[in-house]
Amino acid sequence: MKIANLFFSVPIIIILLYFLPPLGIIVFLARYLVYGNRHFFRAPIYIMACASILALPFGIEQFLKLIHVKANIPYLQEILNWEYYPNLLSFARFSFIVAVIVLIITILLRKLINTLSSKISQFIGQYYNDRLQSDNEIAKENDLKLKEKALTSKQKTPHAVKCPHCGKTNSIIGTVGKCESCRSTIEYKGKH
Ligand SMILES: [Zn+2]
Repeated sequence: MKIANLFFSVPIIIILLYFLPPLGIIVFLARYLVYGNRHFFRAPIYIMACASILALPFGIEQFLKLIHVKANIPYLQEILNWEYYPNLLSFARFSFIVAVIVLIITILLRKLINTLSSKISQFIGQYYNDRLQSDNEIAKENDLKLKEKALTSKQKTPHAVKCPHCGKTNSIIGTVGKCESCRSTIEYKGKH
C-alpha cells in the first residue's frame, strides 16, 4: 500500500505527465480507482494549482499588457526569456487540461459507481427479502398442512361412545356425533 501511495502520488503523476503523457493520464485516472471516493477531487486540484503556478509569469505578463501597465517585476523577464519556459508553459497548459478532464471523468465515474452500487445493493436486498418472504410462506403452509393432517387424522379415528339416553354403543368419527337409535347428541370425551 505504501508503494501504491507513492506511485499514485501527485508528484509522480506530474513527472509521468511530463515524460510519458499517456501513462501519466492512466495513473492519474487509476488513482481514483485506488483511493475511491475519498478526496477524489484533490489530485486534479493540486495539479491545476501546480500548472497555474508554472503559468503565473506568463499570466502576469499578459495581464500587464492587457491593462497597459509597465511594471518592473523582479525576474519576470528573466523567467519569460528562459529558453525552457515556453516548454514548461505548454506542459502547464497540457496538465491543466488533463486535470480538468480527469476531474470531470471522476465525477461522472463517481456518480455511475454510486448509482450502480446502490442499485446492486437494492437488488440484493430485494432478492433476500423475497426469499425470506417465500421461505416464511412455505413454512407457514407446511405448518398449516401439518395441523390439517393432525386434525383430519384425529377426526377420522372412530370412537366407541355409549349413548347416555338409550345405552346403545355407537361408533362416531370426531368428537361429536348422533346416536343411531335415539338420534340424541353424543359426545366423545376422550380417554381418561
Ligand atoms: Zn341413544
